[in-house]
Formats: sequence, C-alpha cells, structure tokens
Amino acid sequence: MTIIADHLSRVKASAVSLITAKTQQLEREGKSIIKLSAGEPDFGTPDHVKMAGVAAIAEGKTQYPPVQGVFELRQAIIEKLKRDNRLDYSPDQIVVSCGCKQVLYNALAATLNPGDEVLLPTPYFISYPNMVSLNRGVPVFIKTRGENRFKLTPDDLEAAITPRTKWLFINSPGNPSGCVYTDTEFKALAEVLRRHPHVWILTDDIYEYLVYDQAVFYTLAQVAPDLKNRILLVNGVSKAYAMTGWRVGYGAGPAELIKTMFKIQSQSTSGTSIISQWASVTALEGDHRFVADNVQALKQRRDLVVSRMNDVEGLSCSSPEGAFYCYISCKDLMGKKTPRGTILSSDLDFCNFLMDECGVAVVHGDAFGLSPYFRISFATKMEVLKTGCSKIAAACEQLK
Ligand code: PLP
Repeated sequence: MTIIADHLSRVKASAVSLITAKTQQLEREGKSIIKLSAGEPDFGTPDHVKMAGVAAIAEGKTQYPPVQGVFELRQAIIEKLKRDNRLDYSPDQIVVSCGCKQVLYNALAATLNPGDEVLLPTPYFISYPNMVSLNRGVPVFIKTRGENRFKLTPDDLEAAITPRTKWLFINSPGNPSGCVYTDTEFKALAEVLRRHPHVWILTDDIYEYLVYDQAVFYTLAQVAPDLKNRILLVNGVSKAYAMTGWRVGYGAGPAELIKTMFKIQSQSTSGTSIISQWASVTALEGDHRFVADNVQALKQRRDLVVSRMNDVEGLSCSSPEGAFYCYISCKDLMGKKTPRGTILSSDLDFCNFLMDECGVAVVHGDAFGLSPYFRISFATKMEVLKTGCSKIAAACEQLK
C-alpha cells in the first residue's frame, strides 16, 4: 500500500536535475566534473535588469503579485509581441507564471481530460511528456529524423492526429534539437492543422532570440493568423535575458483558456514573485544590445563544439540553427567496449561512461525521446567547452 497516486508511476524526475545531483555528489567526493549538461546561459542577468529588481525591493514592491501578472508587465509583453512578432493581444489574453514551465503545466491542467493525447515531436524538451502524464494525459511521440534537422513533417503530423488529440507542441528553436522552422515549413504544418479544428497548438518560443547564421525566427500564430484562436504562445525571460532564477514566463492565447490558467494559478502559486515581474518589465522594455553580443559568443562556442565533435570517430552532429545545444549522434559507438569491459548498448551507457570514467556531464538522448544521441549545452565558457570536447575525444579513443 502506497500513499503515492497511481498515475505518478508514469512520471519521471527531470533527467537533467538527476545528472546535476550526481555531478554535485561526485564533486563533494573530490572529483572534478566538466558540466555540459545544464540548459542555462552562463552570461549572468544584465546589470540594468538586476538594478530594476533591487529598485522594486527598495520601493516596497514586495506584496503578493496580481495573480495574472503585474499589469505593466502584461502591457510590456503585449508591446513585445506586437514589435517582434506582429501579433495583437489584449491584457485578458496574457498570463504571467513561474517560468514557462508553469505556463505549460497550467495549460495542460486547464485542458486535459484523462486519456487526451498530446503530440510531441521527438526529441522533445524533457518536461513535456512528464507534464502531460502529471495531468493524466497521454503523450504521443512523433519521431523526427536527423537528416530532416529533427523537424516535424506534415505527413507525420497528419498520421499522428486522432479524435483524442488535444494539443500539438512545437518548440522552435528547439531544445535539444536546435531546429528552427522556416515560415514555409510552418505554413505546410498549418495546412494539416486547418483540417483538424479540434487540435490546439502550443508554441514554446523560449529560445526566440537565440538564432544563428541565416536562420530567422517565426512563430506559428504569425505565419498562420487564422489558427491564432487555438494557439497558446509561450515565452519568457529565462534564456535570452539569462534570468533562469527569476522564474518569469508568460502565455498569450484565447481569453477563455487564459482565464482558466489564471484560476489554477490563483489556487496554487498565486503567480511568480512581484520583484521578478518588475525586473522583467525592464528586461522587455530596456536595452537589448547585449542579446546580439551573447548570440555572437554562443555562435563561436557552437562552431567549436560542432567541429570538435565531428572530428571524433563514431560521433556526428549537424550545426544547430538556434538555442544552445548540440544533439550528437553516437550510433556508431554502440556495441563498443569500454576499458573496464562494459559494452555500450545505449546512449545512457555512453553518457555514464563519460561521467564516471572521464568526468564530463552531458545528457543522454533517451531522456529527450530520440536515441542514440547525447546533448551538449554550449552555453558555457569556451575554456570549459574545449576541455570537455578534448575529454570526450580522448574517451572515445579508448573504446574498442
Ligand atoms: N521550454 C524549453 C524548450 C526549455 O528548454 C526550457 C528550459 O530548459 C523551458 C521551457 C523552461 O523555461 P523556464 O525557465 O521559463 O521555466
């Protein structure tokens, strides 16, 4: 007899959190670990945003927040969506939560009946299937292909839709794939979605500003405005503004859905810290020049990782067009033997080998639903990346 609810057996703790905990344990034991696992920029929150948080405290803006989000922040979000995405929303169509994660969670809690299906192209952000299961829904995986830059195709989407489909999740730029959908690709997916009016679409745009080379960011609501009345656009300040710890994300969508998400929030967290919300007003309205500098730095780091990993026999990866991850195939290493005699039969085996024998923390592809791959986060210092890549190369040379 257990006190734990039955459906929680289908929910896993985040693999990244488990790897972080393991890393910390190894460090406590005196081992030095190169950490390439966390999805968090190393840049630090810009000073003008930090000072806005300090000013909010000094001005006594420390009460309970308005549950749906500080009005001025919702206005700043509306302006941002107009300026960057040419989308019009009203304040009752915006909700601010504790990071994008709470927006995603509340959207699912607001809409899923037991057994409702949520379409997740693989590889996916680790939390998606677990949040679906937490809300008694059924995650339905649509496999994408590396040759197609891990993008969902219209045919695969069409084949996956059933009468129970409630949502399709789209994450562009993608974690961990780095894929960025073009407007033409979104138009083709929109054509399929028009034939299935019962399917809603959640677009997770959290990596919007982090695109490289010729890639251009689009969000589905902009490309297919006729679908906007069944799209929940999700975005936040965590990644581009290096504000992961401030916990501010937002959703923009039809008022009825937002109202229900507000209701859930009012009975759970009461919204995110009001101090963080005032700092986010400054983030959204203030100087954005630092973003271009950060993108330039990330691009150099990406180029280093891509070239170093492609030089390693048995590994291959394409250059991601956005976000800050390389998703690297380790297919050709499967079946090889480590110096201790372990046969590598999965990407988890390979990542355990890298962690335990070589002191490098990366995340196995199985956690993102597409194997055999592993993810390197390149949102870390160049020196750390160089050491990490050298260690991975040396580790692979030991495999026979
Ligand atoms: N969505 C994606 C695709 C992510 O990669 C992450 C963080 O890794 C999040 C959402 C979570 O964002 P937040 O920090 O705003 O909760």
